[in-house]
Amino acid sequence: MAGATLRTIDYSVLQQCMHCGMCLPTCPTYDQTKQERNSPRGRIALMRAVADGVLEVSQEFAEEMSYCLGCLACQTACPAGVNYTELFETARSDIERQDAHHGVARKFWRGLTLGFLFMHPTALRLAGKALGLYQRSGLEAFVRRTGIVRLLPPALRRVEPQTPRIAKRFSNALIAPHEAPVGQARHRVALLTGCVQDLVFPSVNRDTADVLLANGCAVDTPAVQPCCGSLHAHNGDLTHAAVLARRMIDLFPPDRYDAIVSNAGGCGSHLRRYGPLLQNDPTYRDRAALWDRKVRDVQEWLIEIGCRPPRASPFAEETSVTYHESCHLVHGQKVSREPRALLRLLPGLSLIELPESTWCCGSAGVYALTQPEQAERLLGRKTANIVGTGATCVATANPGCHLQIARGLDAAAAPISVVHPVSLLARAYRREHSTS
Ligand code: SF4
Ligand code: SF4
Repeated sequence: MAGATLRTIDYSVLQQCMHCGMCLPTCPTYDQTKQERNSPRGRIALMRAVADGVLEVSQEFAEEMSYCLGCLACQTACPAGVNYTELFETARSDIERQDAHHGVARKFWRGLTLGFLFMHPTALRLAGKALGLYQRSGLEAFVRRTGIVRLLPPALRRVEPQTPRIAKRFSNALIAPHEAPVGQARHRVALLTGCVQDLVFPSVNRDTADVLLANGCAVDTPAVQPCCGSLHAHNGDLTHAAVLARRMIDLFPPDRYDAIVSNAGGCGSHLRRYGPLLQNDPTYRDRAALWDRKVRDVQEWLIEIGCRPPRASPFAEETSVTYHESCHLVHGQKVSREPRALLRLLPGLSLIELPESTWCCGSAGVYALTQPEQAERLLGRKTANIVGTGATCVATANPGCHLQIARGLDAAAAPISVVHPVSLLARAYRREHSTS
């Protein structure tokens, strides 16, 4: 089809798939339907058909790509090294550029969120403040009691109860722009505070700064930071994703830092790909390539610099903890060993392996909005696996997974807390002082 970027990307990327089917058992959507078109191999064949000009970027094509979680489990399983991330993002970008999804309401919400709020961090925080006030003032409870929410469109009505609780104060109120460790700093790092993490889990950002400081890092955390663009890239808006990548590089010149640290699996996976995103921009190309080499997930960075084992436990008594792997941390960033290694450093904690720890929990950005039934099925499977471990705490390192799993455990009335591994470390370091 004329105009599709899939027709102009390096064709060898599409040709890499040798149809072996090794990815099929790892794909949650194929697992559900056992239909070839819902598998990575089937989707790549569809993309190739678009590239060959024998298939249009149609609504059916858009629906198939929307059913894909973008979890990248197929990329890990693939022996041929297929770059599914690039194919998937290009396909979704074509779908948006050719308006294959249709729908005025969808366009409006995309424009408001991707085009405006996630492009303007101050506006996003203002919207967050307003939503937080609405939640805490009692207005939300009142609105729910009156049944006004029944007037919302069905998709919004469904997700309304899932709206995350907004924090009272955001990262800029908790972390100074420059913080130095006690004694000589051994490393200088940039701390990225994220968007959802900033509005919903700013304490995880504070914990991350504390753990970095405790391990000899000077930490730069500018009060206002742009969105990293991961939501945009994942949802086919590569133009805004490139704008945001340039803003990030301007704010955090990569030659200034030993590491650019993220604590959100989904953001980190995208942050490592600014090089390919800006490869045709001569002004940013080299800095983007350097940037990619400096990006680290906080857990990976801590293991790399030799994380100091805490002398105290984060818990009052021996606690069993299990670990759920965020798709974009394990498949997108290949960070899997490090979170477990950090958890094993903690006294008073026994780590129980989670069956299917790398199987998607169904969060996947806006998947709960676009594919609610499949999202619920995946959440049910994840919840049952977590409950089956007998653990009383589940650690995970991505805000989307955190919210999704907490919701599943809540619905199952399972008394299991959800926590970022770095928060357990921070808690343990703090208890060193209170118990000494
Ligand atoms: S990204 Fe996930 S859902 Fe999509 S094809 Fe790959 S394994 Fe299947
Ligand atoms: S594992 Fe890789 S090469 Fe084999 S079918 Fe899947 S994507 Fe193609």
